Amino acid sequence: MAQGKVGLKKGDNVLVISGEDKGKSGKIVDIFPKKSQVIVEGVRFIKKHMKPTQKSPQGGIVTQESVINVSNVRLLCNKCNKPTTIRRERTKEGKSVRVCKKCGEIIDRV
Ligand SMILES: [Zn+2]
Repeated sequence: MAQGKVGLKKGDNVLVISGEDKGKSGKIVDIFPKKSQVIVEGVRFIKKHMKPTQKSPQGGIVTQESVINVSNVRLLCNKCNKPTTIRRERTKEGKSVRVCKKCGEIIDRV
């Protein structure tokens, strides 16, 4: 599986559990399994200096969402609303799903 041990998917709600953005939560908008990094909507912005272009001859500073290491985030269970870790289970149909370790509910849509 391409997701590897990250166990997270785009669209998952996560809570930041350590680092400067601790306590913030948001939706995963991008994921980089090889680097174990995610981009979370509305969390952690970096300022980027832009070179002057024809459109903005002054150049300028833009803010951009930045990556967070997956070890700094926890999946927020959409059933019990708690930060949790997951285990994998197979449904009767043989589909691999993620199960919340806190409440035991299946997190993925099946
Ligand atoms: Zn749960």
